Amino acid sequence: MSFFHFPSRTFLFHLLAALALAPGAYSESLVFLAKDGTAQFHLILDSDPSGLDTTVAEDLVGTIEKISGAKVSTEDDKEGKIQVYLGEKAEFTNLPIDIPDLEEESYFLKVTPNAIYLIGGSPLGTSHAAYTLLRQVGCRWVMPGEIGECLPKSKDLSLKVQERFESPDFSFRDIWYAYGCSAEASKRRADWLRRNRMHRPPVQHGHNLTNTLAVFAPFEERPDLYSLENGVRTKNQICTSNPEAVALVVKAISEYLKKYPDTQAYSLCPDDNTDFCECENCTALDSGHMDRGGRPSVSDRYQVFLNQVLEGLSKEHPDVLVTHYAYNENHTDPPVNTPVHPNTGIFLTTSVFCSAHGIGDEFCDSRMDFKQLLSEWTAKTKHVYIYEYDPVPYSGGLPWPMWDAHGREMKVYKELGVQGFSFEGQDSWASYFPNYYIGAQMMWNAEQDYHPVFEDMLDSFFHEASAPMKEYYRILASKIGSVEKKVEWGLLDYPKYFPREVVERCRQALEQAEAKASDPIIKKRVEMVRMSFDEMDAFTAMKTAGPETKWDEYQQMVKRLEDSIQRMDITNEDFLLADIAREKTLAGISDRFAMEQGFINKWRICGPFDNVGKEGHNRVYGPEEGVDLTASYTGKEGETASWKVCEGPEWQGYVDLKAQYDQDNFVVAYAVNWITLDQGPKEVEFRVGSNDSVKVFLNGKEVWTNPISRPASADDDIVPVTLPKGTSQVLLKIGQTGRDWGFYFRITEPNSTTPVSGAEISIDPPK
Ligand SMILES: [Zn+2]
Ligand SMILES: [Zn+2]
Repeated sequence: MSFFHFPSRTFLFHLLAALALAPGAYSESLVFLAKDGTAQFHLILDSDPSGLDTTVAEDLVGTIEKISGAKVSTEDDKEGKIQVYLGEKAEFTNLPIDIPDLEEESYFLKVTPNAIYLIGGSPLGTSHAAYTLLRQVGCRWVMPGEIGECLPKSKDLSLKVQERFESPDFSFRDIWYAYGCSAEASKRRADWLRRNRMHRPPVQHGHNLTNTLAVFAPFEERPDLYSLENGVRTKNQICTSNPEAVALVVKAISEYLKKYPDTQAYSLCPDDNTDFCECENCTALDSGHMDRGGRPSVSDRYQVFLNQVLEGLSKEHPDVLVTHYAYNENHTDPPVNTPVHPNTGIFLTTSVFCSAHGIGDEFCDSRMDFKQLLSEWTAKTKHVYIYEYDPVPYSGGLPWPMWDAHGREMKVYKELGVQGFSFEGQDSWASYFPNYYIGAQMMWNAEQDYHPVFEDMLDSFFHEASAPMKEYYRILASKIGSVEKKVEWGLLDYPKYFPREVVERCRQALEQAEAKASDPIIKKRVEMVRMSFDEMDAFTAMKTAGPETKWDEYQQMVKRLEDSIQRMDITNEDFLLADIAREKTLAGISDRFAMEQGFINKWRICGPFDNVGKEGHNRVYGPEEGVDLTASYTGKEGETASWKVCEGPEWQGYVDLKAQYDQDNFVVAYAVNWITLDQGPKEVEFRVGSNDSVKVFLNGKEVWTNPISRPASADDDIVPVTLPKGTSQVLLKIGQTGRDWGFYFRITEPNSTTPVSGAEISIDPPK
């Protein structure tokens, strides 16, 4: 999109030769912004300062004052001061210097003995110039808020005479929060992004397909334009082969672009499901290619649709892009037979790939496959962006080192022509600041060696305690940074990547840092890491508790975990997304003391049955027509499926179907139990966690259905039901759509995790 007359990354760094040779050259080649706490400069804005120019100017002046105590000179007091020009090239006339042509985000920074020029191609470029200057004098914004601000303290502040022309390596550089945040946190994030020279252009992505059609054809009025599934129109996706649907989508986008003319790319990313239309005209456009995601590809039909939309927009909006996700089980791969319109933008998501490494990590087969996928897409369109999970949404705020991955991958992305990055992050900086800080620096300059950037971050942030903190982060990343097996979503394997010996060594390094930290702000930062460490420590201790651990000891571990989360929650809003941390980490408590917590881990199971295309979820197999423990059925691929007892270790809450059937493919299995209440009827909750889809039948009646694909956590779904007095049959149907397969199930009192009282559970039906 942008074109530079200079190479896109050019450092022209000249010390003035004459000065360098003169006696006393060193002092003369420095230009002072402050001397002995007094400002040596006077600020001149361009003829039409934008809002951003003003914000940046205030931040520049305020930051210099914080560093040196110097208040900037005013109009009346400019005698003998150097002039600092801040603004856009087009809005300064008669500047006595030559400025190269500047694109939107490029800047020109020139320091002479009499003046400093902070000149941008747009207010964004100007902003980058100002923050480059502040970086040069030692300012770092490691995380949002005061705690992340690392400023030098000095009454003298100087710059070298220099000339520098630079622009970022990628046009789209954003880290945002899944799960949102408060208005104040949003403001702090915006400051952090600006100071770290990040920028998100008006290039949209996000599940937006049905929303777009609904502008002129809501589902309720025109169900025929939406996707056909099992003979019924649903609003999960749209019928992309219907010319009327295409025309209405074009109309909706045109209207939008009239209202928001700055939009560079409009999102037509499909909705967040794989339920594309099954009508004849839509399926006729499919190539028959099996997608990497594991299901027959719909990429060809979708590209036909995008091409038609782009054609429809081309007259009035020849430059606008329309974006699409390479994502999910049936539209990760590019189309096979369909040409890709040059205005197609692709956000390539990492969701089905290793969640710990990057494409610079050649030992990781999964990310090497992602790199292959990327080159398949960049061969089709030049507008390719990366949608990265940093870290995966199931991480619960626990440490998840990705800085090495970012450090190594960005130059590979640049070589492959990637346009930018949308990092789905979390407002949980206590654990993730190294990921985000390094990510941001590498998005700006992909080719720099990230090791010194990482060291510099820790030196700035931890100062007198930086040596042991470097050790801390080195140890923390040591195991997960080198596992060759694909790191999956979810916390099931977390203790493998952060084994107790790693945790213990981290603790030792952290204790040394605590002993060394003396400055109050350094103490605060080390304490923040301590809280993040405590969460990891408590979580991994709990997950690896052995058979010798007593129930009350175990409850203490759970309490420690809860406390660590609570402390972060009340100390600083940006430390941890506490609700999500509780949900994800405390769900894991079921892996031990299953009985005490009411988890039912002994079942009779029957399977596997076919689930290709996830159709098994709604297909009725024998066990659903009445449980007969002596019956056998035709299962997947004609094999016999009959009932057998499934029993894991007594302490374990998780029922591991993968261990029982060893199936990676699309299958379903049933599990049955009988519950006897001596008194009733009684209101209770069925709490089920499943990997993947789940149906629950109570006495033959379906009481819950969830066609999801996910890692299992205890209590994923909470279903209030009424249990009658006497014996009831509980039948589960659990789908497998790849990787792990299993479930958690318990029955509790209403709105409580207390196991239901007065219930007998048996794998045998009443006699
Ligand atoms: Zn259709
Ligand atoms: Zn990996």
